[in-house]
Amino acid sequence: MIIAIANQKGGVGKTTTALNVSAALAFMGKNTLLVDTDPQGHSTVSCVNDPHRYGKSLYNVMVNRQEKIENIIVKSTIPGLDVAISKISMAKLEPSLLGEIDGHFRLKDVLENVKKKYKFIIIDTPPTLGLLTLNALVAADAIIIPIQSSYLCLEGTDDLLETIDKVKRVTNTNLRIIGVLITLHDKRTNISKDVVKRIKKVFGKKVFNTYISRSVKLEESPAYKESIFTYAPYSVGVLQYKKVVEEIIRRAKN
Ligand code: ADP
Ligand code: MG
Repeated sequence: MIIAIANQKGGVGKTTTALNVSAALAFMGKNTLLVDTDPQGHSTVSCVNDPHRYGKSLYNVMVNRQEKIENIIVKSTIPGLDVAISKISMAKLEPSLLGEIDGHFRLKDVLENVKKKYKFIIIDTPPTLGLLTLNALVAADAIIIPIQSSYLCLEGTDDLLETIDKVKRVTNTNLRIIGVLITLHDKRTNISKDVVKRIKKVFGKKVFNTYISRSVKLEESPAYKESIFTYAPYSVGVLQYKKVVEEIIRRAKN
């Protein structure tokens, strides 16, 4: 199953979710590939040793059909997890594919070659609704939308939902939102209760029962190139991301 983590807002926990959901799946013994489509390469930097030693990235594979995706998939520092790496060159993708009629389908085509090898492919996306995110939505079976538990959390979700609908209409009929994940939650504040209510009003049952709390350990772990599961095995983040992954697996079966 291919799952894109998408929300064109930055700082909502996409990368944190991509890393820790992938880590949990890998930990459970499921063959998992994390695909980093963000030119900022935060996922890559957070779980690949010395990523600059690699000359090529997903960019080369998406632009040039002769390049093999296997050459840009590396072992991450997270046990059992492979990563298709991003570099800043990914930012050139949009101009490079300008006028290419299959520009939206490149990631889907590229993943076709490794799909059988992995039980789960998790795609981290950039904070835009540009060509890279569109490629992720076209390639995916399902989407997780992380939403930060904050006052302006729902701003922009209309555009995201519209884009998802368009992709469904034009090419990927079976694409579905597998869940909306409330992140950076702080249950002590009154505003967060109100925010959860508003998110549930829009997304109803799509909202995962588990929320991800604001936690220093979750913020720290990427700096040590670890997932939360090894960095702070007894933390609340472990408990919550484990529960979310159980929800994902349950929903994936339906
Ligand atoms: P995005 O990929 O959507 O831009 P990130 O996952 O990079 O978001 O998160 C933005 C920032 O917030 C990062 O510094 C990250 O470490 C931090 N962060 C994300 N989730 C949490 C959390 N649950 N608790 C504390 N910090 C978090
Ligand atoms: Mg990110």
